[in-house]
Amino acid sequence: MGGLAERLAAIDERIADAARAAHRDPSELTRIVVTKFHPATLVEELYGLGVRDVGENRQQEFSRKAVEVGHLEGLRWHFIGQAQTNKARAIRAAASVVHSLDRTRLADALDAAAGPDDAVLDVLLQVNLTDDPGRGGVAPGDLEALASHAAALPSLRVRGVMAVAPLDEPPAPAFERLSALSDVVRSVVPDAGWISAGMTADFAEAIAAGATHLRIGSAITGPRPERG
Ligand SMILES: *Cc1c(COP(=O)(O)O)cnc(C)c1O
Repeated sequence: MGGLAERLAAIDERIADAARAAHRDPSELTRIVVTKFHPATLVEELYGLGVRDVGENRQQEFSRKAVEVGHLEGLRWHFIGQAQTNKARAIRAAASVVHSLDRTRLADALDAAAGPDDAVLDVLLQVNLTDDPGRGGVAPGDLEALASHAAALPSLRVRGVMAVAPLDEPPAPAFERLSALSDVVRSVVPDAGWISAGMTADFAEAIAAGATHLRIGSAITGPRPERG
């Protein structure tokens, strides 16, 4: 297992420290381990260490791994990558939470993909904190309309917001903007208080700004293997 348990414990320690520094209760944070580019056996090892929330950002890899570890009871998959509408059914089939809902057409596709016996799907509205439209996420000015649209779809439950910190500015002010945008969503869906923010490089800043769901990859999994 070579250090995985130690890395996981060390990150959880740092998460707890950051929470206490922000006068927050560490138990209100969900730590998602991002397993992209790693084999399904890593997910099994993490599961053995008590991890129940894992994340992937590419649909094909996500769907394949979810099947490979389908026997792990209680494992929750978080889909955190850009999603194509024609993959909505595949995403819905495996995800407990979709963090990357960023347009009305994708909301409609995820809703339409629900089977009659499917549970309601938890979704987060991904916001673009940069000026670059290519980076994924709804523009802040369009967030309220997207929240209203998604909230009206019967098989989706809007739980909050998600964002990735910009590359060209410090994370703290960007996460403060995200926190304000969380209020915009809650003006539409009052109990949608989840804030998915914070990766290996910036989770302490995200916790200070109110993040509830952290998406941490390389600090726990180690360097990503070469992509074959
Ligand atoms: C890869 C990824 C992460 C985790 O990144 P690390 O820097 O390895 O912690 C978090 N969020 C998204 C959307 C990602 O694609």
